[in-house]
Amino acid sequence: MPDLLNVDRALATILATIQPLASELIPLENALGRTLAEAVTSNVNLPPFPNSSMDGFAVQSADTLNASADKGVALRLVADIPAGTASAVVLRQGEAARIMTGAPLPDGADAVIPVESTDAKWTPGSDTALPPSVTIHRSLKGGDYVRKAGEDIRSGETLVKAGTKLRAAELGILAAIGQAAVKVYRQPHVAIISTGDELIEVSTELTPGKIRDSNSYTIAALVTEHGGIPIKIPTARDTLEDVRQRFREALDQQPDLIISSAGVSVGAFDVVRTIIDEMGHVDFWKINLRPGKPLAYGQVGGVPFFGLPGNPVSAMVTFDVFVRPTLLKLAHQKDDAKHIEAATSEDIDSDGRRSYIRVNLKREQNQWVARTTGTQSSGALSSMMLADGLLIIPEDVTFLPAGSISPIRLLRPLEEIG
Ligand code: AMP
Ligand code: MG
Repeated sequence: MPDLLNVDRALATILATIQPLASELIPLENALGRTLAEAVTSNVNLPPFPNSSMDGFAVQSADTLNASADKGVALRLVADIPAGTASAVVLRQGEAARIMTGAPLPDGADAVIPVESTDAKWTPGSDTALPPSVTIHRSLKGGDYVRKAGEDIRSGETLVKAGTKLRAAELGILAAIGQAAVKVYRQPHVAIISTGDELIEVSTELTPGKIRDSNSYTIAALVTEHGGIPIKIPTARDTLEDVRQRFREALDQQPDLIISSAGVSVGAFDVVRTIIDEMGHVDFWKINLRPGKPLAYGQVGGVPFFGLPGNPVSAMVTFDVFVRPTLLKLAHQKDDAKHIEAATSEDIDSDGRRSYIRVNLKREQNQWVARTTGTQSSGALSSMMLADGLLIIPEDVTFLPAGSISPIRLLRPLEEIG
């Protein structure tokens, strides 16, 4: 279909206009899931000092050489080192210091004997007076039950690379090295406008000719799923004044991206086109894509703008194909789309456009088998809900015989499918 714009060419044209967002400094407690904008280097060793990995007694390992289960060796107790304290004591031959997990090893000691391998008794958490000596029943090597300074993290080491998506473990590391604020990339703020005289709010009773606006919910959810912040603008009626007003409200929110739905198909787009020509510029494309042939892309008041088709499935598929990569580029994130290969369970006709067919997946004899979810109407949201993935039929293919191996864009994690 030579008059239709190739999907990849359209996406490349869009992405060429997208500038990744700047960074911002935020408190560490808000940083989960955010993308680090600059590498973090530690300026401390962790642990900062050698410390005990057990509750027990710091000793010189040489003093323990003759100790065993039936032969005790008595050592004189010269210090008590609870967690959170440091001792100035220097341990000499024949001496030991009672020490708690995490407490700094005193100078002169090179190992810790766990309390279980001694005759000492103390109740954790209680103040047990320090006895004059302890008898140990085990021999140790230097370094036993000692965590060395810097064994976890070394000062000067680059710990977390720029571009890392922060998870619990990274937040823990950043906390441990004293990074109370982190530089992350800004999240894209996305204004969402539904257009159409037929649309009513979710809480409103249906009346003849009306349908509820579902696109603003699917689009907002997809924006959130991909790390953006959705800003819902009230629905625009199909009048110049209303559409102009809604786009102005969108711009007032200083968004990084504006997405409208509906009003881009043949015969419908005049209102949206008129307003965007007035406030910016837009191209109305016919994409070689099914569902989702009509797509508008341009800018409004300097902000990138997508006009997605109104049909709910077309809106979701064009979001996945065009808006998702745009959001990822804005947020400096890598492509997270997961694909597998599956064999088709039935013959599938196509019309020569690149087609995204809603399918269910099943594991059969060591391969994934894809079965269409019934109606492929671009208005049937239920088919999107039921689908495990989108089977991609390339351009210029009009017939896919049963058993063909095809790429599938997963819509759920593989572990949840079966
Ligand atoms: P249009 O692009 O305006 O011709 O709309 C195409 C189809 O999508 C029509 O059936 C509309 O009723 C439907 N539609 C448009 N906007 C929405 C929306 N926000 N939620 C659900 N359906 C919509
Ligand atoms: Mg409409």
